[in-house]
Amino acid sequence: MQRRRGRRTLERMPSPIRRPDRATRLLSAAERDGTHCVWCRRECTGLIRATTDHLVPKVKGGPSWLENEVVSCGRCNRERGHLSPVDWFVECERRGWCPDLGAVVGTLRSLGQAITARGGRRRARPYLAAQLRRLARLEAERTRLAS
Ligand SMILES: [Zn+2]
Repeated sequence: MQRRRGRRTLERMPSPIRRPDRATRLLSAAERDGTHCVWCRRECTGLIRATTDHLVPKVKGGPSWLENEVVSCGRCNRERGHLSPVDWFVECERRGWCPDLGAVVGTLRSLGQAITARGGRRRARPYLAAQLRRLARLEAERTRLAS
C-alpha cells in the first residue's frame, strides 16, 4: 500500500532532466515549428501571446510532452477548447485561416512514436490513431485536389 502510494508520488514529481517545464517546451516547439501560431499563423509577438496547445487534449489522456504540444496563440488555444485537433483544423480553414497541416501531422506522428517508446497513455492511443487516420484522409484529399 505504502509502496504504491510512493510510486504514484514519484511519477508526479517533475524531473528536470526528463521533463522540461512548460516554458522550455514552448521554446522547443517554437524551434521546431516556428514562432507563429500553427492554427491561424499569426506571429506570436507582443500582444499575441504564445501558448503551448495540447494536440491530444489532457481530458483525452494527452500528455504534457513536447511531442503533444504546438505553439498556439492564446486566442486559438482558448477558442479550440476541447475540440479535437482535426475538428479545430477544419474550423480554422472554415474561418479562412491557413493552419499548418505539416506541423500538426508531424507532431501527432512523433507523439505516436513517443508513446510507443515510453509506454502507457492507453486512453490517448485510440484517440490519436483516429486523428491520424482523419488527417491522412485530409492530406490525400489535398493531394487529389492539387493534381
Ligand atoms: Zn492562432
